Amino acid sequence: MIDVITTTAYIGLGSNLNERADLIIKALTLLDNAPGVTVGLVSQMIETAPAGGPKRQGDYLNNAAQIHCRISAEQLLFEMQKVEYQLGRVRRKKWGPRTIDLDLLLFGGEIIDTPSLKVPHPLLHERPFVLRPLAEIAPEVVHPVLKKTIRQLLEDVDA
Ligand code: ATP
Ligand code: CA
Ligand code: CA
Repeated sequence: MIDVITTTAYIGLGSNLNERADLIIKALTLLDNAPGVTVGLVSQMIETAPAGGPKRQGDYLNNAAQIHCRISAEQLLFEMQKVEYQLGRVRRKKWGPRTIDLDLLLFGGEIIDTPSLKVPHPLLHERPFVLRPLAEIAPEVVHPVLKKTIRQLLEDVDA
C-alpha cells in the first residue's frame, strides 16, 4: 500500500448495563473490524460511580483505547455509533444507563467544533474516569486546546 495518512485518535469507552467488560471488549473488536480503523493500545478498565444522570444507575466500567485511523473524525464517529447500535444501545435519558458509550476524545491534534462532533471531547479534562485510563496509554499526548499533557490534566483534576 502506498502512503496512506494515518491519524492517531483516542476514544473513551463506558458501560453500566449487562456484561460490562464483555461489551467493552466486543465494542473494540467491532471497531477494529471497521474499514480504515485499527485498534492500538488499550488501557485497563476502571470501575466508577455514575456522574450525573438519573439516580440509582449501576457503576460504570470505563477504559480508553488508541485508534489508528485512515478515515476522518466524522467517519470514525459514525463507525463508533454503528458499534453502539450493534451492541444494543438505546438512547434514552441524558447520561442515563447504557450498554455502551463510545466517545471520541482526541483525533490527532485536530480541533473540531460542529453540532454533531466536538473534539477534543468538551468534558475530557474534567473527568477523572476518562483521564485516568487515557493517561495510562497516552500520558505525553498534548491536549490541542489546553496545551497540557494528559498526565498534567490528570494531576490537575486529582489536585
Ligand atoms: P457526554 O458527551 O457528556 O459524555 P453522552 O456520551 O452521554 O454525554 P451521547 O448521548 O452519547 O452523550 O451523545 C450525544 C451526541 O454527542 C452524539 O449524537 C454526538 O453527535 C455528539 N458528540 C459531539 N462530540 C462528540 C464526541 N467527541 N464523541 C462522541 N459524541 C460526540
Ligand atoms: Ca460519554
Ligand atoms: Ca457518547
